[in-house]
Amino acid sequence: ELAQRMSERAVDVVKYFMKQGQILKPGDVIDADTAELIAVEFGHTVRRVAESDIEEGLFDVADRPEDMEPRSPVVTIMGHVDHGKTSLLDAIRNANVVSGEAGGITQHIGAYQVEKNGQKITFIDTPGHAAFTAMRARGAQATDIAILVVAADDSVMPQTIESISHAKAAGVPIIVAINKIDKPSADPQKVRTQLLQHEVFVESMGGEVLDVEVSATKGTNLDKLLEAILLQAELLDLRANANRTAEGVVIEAKLDKGRGSVATVLVQTGTLLVGDIVVAGNEWGRVRALVDDHGEHVKEALPATPVEILGLQGTPQAGDRFAVVTNEARAREITEYRQRLARDKAAARHVGQRGSLEHMMSQLQSSGLKEFPLVIKADVQGSVEAIIAALDKLGTDEVRARIVHAGAGGITESDVSLAETSGAAMIGFNVRANPQARQAAEQAGIDIRYYNIIYNLVDDVKAAMSGLLSPER
Ligand code: GDP
Repeated sequence: ELAQRMSERAVDVVKYFMKQGQILKPGDVIDADTAELIAVEFGHTVRRVAESDIEEGLFDVADRPEDMEPRSPVVTIMGHVDHGKTSLLDAIRNANVVSGEAGGITQHIGAYQVEKNGQKITFIDTPGHAAFTAMRARGAQATDIAILVVAADDSVMPQTIESISHAKAAGVPIIVAINKIDKPSADPQKVRTQLLQHEVFVESMGGEVLDVEVSATKGTNLDKLLEAILLQAELLDLRANANRTAEGVVIEAKLDKGRGSVATVLVQTGTLLVGDIVVAGNEWGRVRALVDDHGEHVKEALPATPVEILGLQGTPQAGDRFAVVTNEARAREITEYRQRLARDKAAARHVGQRGSLEHMMSQLQSSGLKEFPLVIKADVQGSVEAIIAALDKLGTDEVRARIVHAGAGGITESDVSLAETSGAAMIGFNVRANPQARQAAEQAGIDIRYYNIIYNLVDDVKAAMSGLLSPER
C-alpha cells in the first residue's frame, strides 16, 4: 500500500526492508515513523495527516439558520406481523397515485412520496423495525415519524412492543394506526388500553400520542392518518437547507443487469444533481441519472425526496450515508480510506468485546454515564417482569439499569441491532439467540450473556454496575 501511494514497485520497498535485515510477510503492518523514513528514502515529501482527517467536512456541514427551509416528513411503518403494515403502505400509495400515470403503476424504489393538502409525505417502503434499526446501526437516521400499526381484532403483540422500544430508543415520535376496524371483532379501545402498559399514551387516554382508526383494505380514514402525520410533522418543525451539496442515506441498493449499480437514496439536506460526484458508504460514482418513485428521470432531488442514483461504481449498503464531494480524487481518497477501515475492522472483529459487560462498564465509568442500558429477552412474560422488578431494585444514586427493551421470545437479529445502536448489553434468560442473531452479534462485537437463574443475572448486572465484575465464568 505504501509502495502504491509512492508509485513505487512493492518489491523495491520489500527489498529495502531486507537490506535493513527485516523480512516482511504479507499482512504485516509498518508504523507511521517507519513509513515516513522509507518515503523520504525514496525521495518523497511526507505530510502527516490523521487518517480521520480524510473524512473531515464530509458530513454535517453547519447550515446557517436562515438557510433552513421547511421540509417534508419521512415516515416508517412498524408493527407486528400480519397487523397490516404492507396493506397500509399499499393503500396509501394507491389512494394517492398522481392522475395520468398509466394504470396507476408506480415504481417500487424503496420509498415513495404522496401529497396531502399540498404537502408531501415520504414513506419508507420497507415496513417493520428491522430495516429501521439496521439503518440506525450504520449511523443513519432516516425516519422522522413512526406509524405503529396495531390490528384492532388482535392485541399488542411482541413485535408491537419491539417497535415501540425501537422508536423510543431512536427518539422518534409514534403515531398509532389502529387497523382492521372494518372487522366485526375489532376493539380499538382494547388496543389503546393495552398500549398504556407500554407507555404509549394516546390522546383520548390523556396522553399526547396521536391515534387514528383505519382500515387498510377498505381505505377508511387514510386521509385522517395523513393529516395526523402532517400535524406531527408541524410540531417537529422539520427543516433542511436545499441550497447546498446533498447529503443523505441509502435506503436500498442493488446491482441491476442493465443499469449497473442502482441505489435508492433519501436526500436529507441539500439538492442532489445529475453530474454530482457522490460518496456512499465504501463506494463512489458520478451521478449519471436520477430516477424518481414514478420511474421518471429527474434533474435534481430536494431534501426528503427519495430517488434512484445511477452511476455508482459499486453497490453501497442500506443505511450507508452518502454525500456529494468536490472531485473524483477526493471521492477516491475517502472510499479507499473506508475500505481500508472496513478491512481493519473485520480483522479486529474476533477480538471485539464492545458489548461485553466488562467493556461496557469501563466505558460507562470513563464517560461518567449514570445508566446501564440492557436489552433482555426471556422465555415467558413472567420472567421478563421478575427480571425487571429485580433490576429496578438495584438502582443507586450513581448508576441504574435502563431497560432499552425487554420481551418474551428468542434473541433475534433485531434485538442485537437494538443493543448495538443503544450501546446496551444483550441478555438472554432461558432463551438462545437464533443463528442470524448470533452472526449479527459476532459482527458487531456484541457479547450475548445467557442465564437460567435470575439471581445470577442480577448479580452480574450488579457487579458490572459497581465496576466489580469478576472475569467471565
Ligand atoms: P403485515 O405483515 O403487517 O405487512 O400485514 P399485511 O399487510 O400483509 O396484512 C396481513 C393480513 O391482514 C392480510 O391478509 C391483509 O389482507 C389483512 N388486512 C390488512 N389490513 C386489513 C384491514 O384493514 N382490514 C381487514 N379486514 N384485513 C386487513
